[in-house]
Parts: sequence; C-alpha cells; structure tokens
Amino acid sequence: MNNNENLRIGLVWFRNDLRLYDNETLHKAQAENDLVVPVYVFDTRNYRTSTYGFKKTGDFRAQFLLECVADLRNRIRALGGELAIHTGIPEDILPALCLKHEVTTLYLSQEVAPEETQVENELQHRLGDAGVEMQTYNTATLLTKELLPFSLDKMHDMFTAFRWEVERVNAIQGTLPTPTHITVPANMDAGVRPDITGLNGNHLHTDPRAAMAFVGGETAALARLQEYVWGTDGVATYFDNRNGLLGRDYSTKLSAWLSAGCISARVIHHTIKEYERVRVANKSTYWVTFELLWRDFFRFNMEKYHCELFFSQGPKRRAMDQTDNYELLHRWINGKTGSEFVDANMNELRLTGFMSNRGRQITASYLVNDLKVKWLMGAAYFESQLIDYDVSSNYGNWAYIAGVGNDPRQDRYFNIDKQAATFDANGAYRKLWLQKH
Ligand SMILES: Cc1cc2nc3c(=O)[nH]c(=O)nc-3n(C[C@H](O)[C@H](O)[C@H](O)COP(=O)(O)OP(=O)(O)OC[C@H]3O[C@@H](n4cnc5c(N)ncnc54)[C@H](O)[C@@H]3O)c2cc1C
Repeated sequence: MNNNENLRIGLVWFRNDLRLYDNETLHKAQAENDLVVPVYVFDTRNYRTSTYGFKKTGDFRAQFLLECVADLRNRIRALGGELAIHTGIPEDILPALCLKHEVTTLYLSQEVAPEETQVENELQHRLGDAGVEMQTYNTATLLTKELLPFSLDKMHDMFTAFRWEVERVNAIQGTLPTPTHITVPANMDAGVRPDITGLNGNHLHTDPRAAMAFVGGETAALARLQEYVWGTDGVATYFDNRNGLLGRDYSTKLSAWLSAGCISARVIHHTIKEYERVRVANKSTYWVTFELLWRDFFRFNMEKYHCELFFSQGPKRRAMDQTDNYELLHRWINGKTGSEFVDANMNELRLTGFMSNRGRQITASYLVNDLKVKWLMGAAYFESQLIDYDVSSNYGNWAYIAGVGNDPRQDRYFNIDKQAATFDANGAYRKLWLQKH
C-alpha cells in the first residue's frame, strides 16, 4: 500500500524513446497524472545469442544503451524525479511495479516489429487482468501516422511514390516541450543500472580511426545536432558530401541517437527549418528530411509486412539462390574477402560499430550478389554490430538490396570496383582501414 492516496499515478515505460524533449508518451503521462513512475528495463532476451550465432545486441550498442539510460536518469533527476532501472522481462516487471505503486495507466511508445509487438500484446493481457489501462504512442517517426493520406495496407511499396504522396499533405507536427519537473512517488526504488558485463558484453577499446565517438544519451544527441547544423553548417552541404566515407561531417551521424530515441526526427526537421529561415535553404537542407522520410518509409513498411521481412523470400516471396555458408560469412565479417573496398568497410564496422551508408550498400550487395550468402545472415550480423541498429531500417534496407523487398526493381547490384573508383578514388579510405592496428 503506498501513501499516495487520491493521487493519480502513471507509469512511463521508456523503450526506444530515451529522451525528455518531444516525447509524447512522457508528455501525456505528465498531463494526466499527479505522479509518474519512469522505468527502463534491460530486456535480457535482447542480450542473448541469436539464430546465426551473433549476440543480438553487440558490445558497441550495449555500451551505447548503457550511456543512454545513464543520461536519461541524470536528466530526470535534474527535474526532481528518478528513473527506475531494471534488468529482466518487461512483461513480468512492469505489472509488478504497477501493483506496487497503484498505477492506473501505463504509457509506452509503440513498436512495430514482431518481437516488440508480441511483448506489447503480452503486457496488455497482463495489465488488463490487473485493471491497468495501457496507452501507446508513436514517438519514432517524422510523420504522424494518423495524418497520412492512406492506410498502411494501401501504402506504396516504392519509396518515390510514398514520398510524393506524403509531401502533398502536412503530416509533420510540431515538437512537444521538455517537462519542467517530474514528480515521482516517495517510495520509488531506483533499481540498479547493470554494467556491460551484466549484459553479457565486454569492455571495448576505442579505435582511433573511428569516424566519431558516439556517446549515448539525449545530451550528446542535442549537442551533435547543434554542432552539425549551427556549428559546422554541415547541413548546407549534406547533398554533396553524403556519400563520403571519412570523418565526422560527411553526414549527420545522428542515426544511433535516432534509433535509441535520444532525439526525435521532428526535432531534427524543425531545427533544419529554423536554419533554413536564418541562414540558407538549399537542396542539402531539404535532403536530410528526405532521408528521414526513408526512415519513416521503412518503419511503415515493417508495420505493413511485419513477419514477412524476416523470411528469406521477403514480402516479394521471391525464391533466392543463396547458401548459408558460414566460412564465406566470416570472411566477409573479418574483412578477408580479398575485395579491398569491401574489406575496408567491414573492418570499420567490426572495429567501431559504424559504417557509412555507401559502405552498407556495397558490403550488403557483395554478400548477397557476389558471395551468394543468405541475406538474413548479413542482416543478423548488422543487427548485432551496428551501434545505430534499427529493426525496420536494417531489415528493410537488406531486403531491398537483396531484391526481396516489394519495390519493382529486381536487385540492386553494386559493381565494387566502380564504387571504389568513384567514392574512394585516391584510396585513402582503403589505406586507413586495411592497415593493421
Ligand atoms: C544494409 C543496410 C542496413 C542499414 N541498417 C540501418 C540500421 O540498422 N539503422 C539505421 O539507422 N540505418 C540503417 N541503414 C541506413 C543508413 O545507412 C544509415 O541510417 C546511415 O548511414 C546513418 O548515418 P547518418 O546518421 O550519418 O545518416 P545521414 O546520411 O545523415 O541521414 C540522416 C538520417 O536519415 C536516416 N536514413 C538515411 N538513410 C537511410 C536509409 N537508407 N534507410 C533508413 N534511414 C535512413 C537515418 O536515420 C539517418 O540518421 C542501413 C542501410 C543499409 C544499406
């Protein structure tokens, strides 16, 4: 029994929305309750080994998420509140916390991929039995789903057609403010933040060649946005530089923070709109929003095709001539294919958890089209290794490159030599990532 009688108490379950600014879930909970219980759960299922022998969450992302959660806790504490951190199974932990704190409503951000929606369904079932209401919000996309000019089952399978349709309507809403205070129940238990070994991970050594150090959390995310937009004016030359391979500023490098939800796509968009008003509006400033629309496209695509994006034949149901040859797979992973451009990119990914968009397209195409290895194995390795792993963007891009997504083009073959000659003409990238360290 708590001593918060007659007070309305809501629980906010933070998932891939590890931020305070422009977070509708938190915003609604704050508006509808006297007290909130902010909770994060390290779901132990996400730290196990998956089908093809990779850790589902590799060390780079595990470390990044630990930092995100630490930063979220600090930010909540600065507003007078507390973040309860638990490790285990959310469907077990959250109903117990609701019972303890006499919570009437649990607020969470909605996920769209099969494993995550299964968790939501199970949670809903258990909360229903306990008489707790569950409210879900889409905090991930730039576009507001309810404002789209089509239902998702009628959504176009071609990005260009999707973009034309969404750009005709105004489906991007304004941002929600950061709360000024967060009041939690007096008897709230803060729990324990695990360390990397507690998540089956290992401490990492930073490779000095990394494009940049990704520090988890909303604080670092907002700082990176500020730096890229206002500090370096990188956004004004994005279109020309986005196929780069070296350094921090050839692209926004915001993906890891977007994937963990440390920053919202809307905040990025509206910051750029402000930049356009104050400094310059050009093709580059538009193009960052264009890329954020790709992100939305893949997320809505996941909602539409769901489990089909995890079958080797994909939504297109196209039979592929592919092997599950582990030797070839591991040569690719370890940068030992003999194709220098592929190997350099795979070294960067293995040693830093990041790879450019160009590199991802080339290495994915090489695995599928040249080595003829099952695309799901490559996607599972990226899932483990990428610091910015996002289920919809990863499986959507892989299916697209493998030619099993639902777009009309059959496959996306990249001629590696041509790519190297175009994007690494002087060999600087290959030189950097093929040398031993
Ligand atoms: C095989 C493959 C797997 C990928 N896996 C992921 C993944 O797991 N997580 C992820 O965030 N991105 C993924 N991408 C997309 C893209 O490569 C990264 O988002 C981008 O390289 C991140 O760097 P950036 O933030 O500097 O991007 P920028 O070029 O600055 O783009 C700005 C933002 O737009 C979004 N974006 C850009 N390109 C894409 C795209 N093709 N698909 C979806 N969103 C895009 C990202 O959120 C990115 O942060 C994948 C691409 C490929 C080809």
